[in-house]
Amino acid sequence: SEPKKDDLHRIIHLMDGFKASKALFTASKMCVFDLLQSRPGLDAAQVAQEIKASVKGTECLLEACVSLGLLKSKPRACQKPVYKNTHLSSRFLLSDAPFSMRGYIQHCDDTVWPLFSHLESAVREGANQREKAFGKTSKEMFQDTFYNSREAKLRFMNAMHSIAKVTGRAVATAFDLSRFKTACDLGGCTGAMAYEFTKAHPGLSVTVFDLPAVVEMSEHFHPLHTDNSVSFVAGDFFKDELPKADLYILARILHDWSDDKVCILLSKIANVCTAGCGLLLSEIFLDEDRRGPSRGLLQALSMSEGKQSSATEYSLLLKSHGFVTAHVRHTDNLLDAMLCIKVLSNLFCF
Ligand code: SAM
Repeated sequence: SEPKKDDLHRIIHLMDGFKASKALFTASKMCVFDLLQSRPGLDAAQVAQEIKASVKGTECLLEACVSLGLLKSKPRACQKPVYKNTHLSSRFLLSDAPFSMRGYIQHCDDTVWPLFSHLESAVREGANQREKAFGKTSKEMFQDTFYNSREAKLRFMNAMHSIAKVTGRAVATAFDLSRFKTACDLGGCTGAMAYEFTKAHPGLSVTVFDLPAVVEMSEHFHPLHTDNSVSFVAGDFFKDELPKADLYILARILHDWSDDKVCILLSKIANVCTAGCGLLLSEIFLDEDRRGPSRGLLQALSMSEGKQSSATEYSLLLKSHGFVTAHVRHTDNLLDAMLCIKVLSNLFCF
């Protein structure tokens, strides 16, 4: 029988997904959305001149963006249409929008796209393809790939910053944290998440702990009006002493690391925690049957050392380090969250 229209549309949508992503990445990189925000109503030739591109190419890019809901076009009698941003692009694609995803989009284009172009090898080998994608031997993901130059480091930090700004409030407000006075955000990068925590919980102070290379650049990302409720400490969470705190935050950390490294990190946290201390874990929680969300399952294909897990799997892991799960929140934002409390001594590492 003839294929059903919905089935056909679904499969074509999936086949074309990479073209849509690349059109978004390219328009963002060429500053199309910033340009149309400051000068709405330009036609393709005017946009082409500003972004220093061909008129034909710009026209195709603008029309593709209209079809994806990223731009609106207004027809004009006997003249070419003019373009302006949609609600979606004004909200997420401008460089200076509060929820700008531009940093993360650039990271996807520069780092994730090349990795995914070697997906077949990644699947065959069960290993990430950083060497093939970036042409250098990289042993350590952060130092060798993301922080191997000042530009690469800023790009990565920008990417983390944009996601943390979008997700930070949902994570920070997921639980009543009034019993905690001090927190330590391990791998807290630019501090974007930490500032959301101190905004949401007046009286809480947060120490951001990250690699020296990151901490030395963090001031580029501080909000205009800061108080001293957020501070930064440089160190390696696998090797160095962790700052003392009532609550430890691990946001988008565990999924990157092998079981052995996760065990080292959780053991170190467990050792500095006394009974009653908290551990707030924020990750994408896979459905218990591992059928979704596709965001988490697709991320797993980048084949880091680590893995994506469900809330139950994380709970069991934390329990083996003496933390019991008090609450789990599926936030409807990009990250979910779990609050655990230290009760027991470490049991074992697996
Ligand atoms: N927690 C942040 C968030 O949710 O936006 C950033 C997550 S990012 C995926 C991982 C962070 O861990 C980076 O900021 C990275 O520099 C930091 N990191 C990686 N290895 C580290 C180490 N050995 N010690 C301390 N921080 C580390």
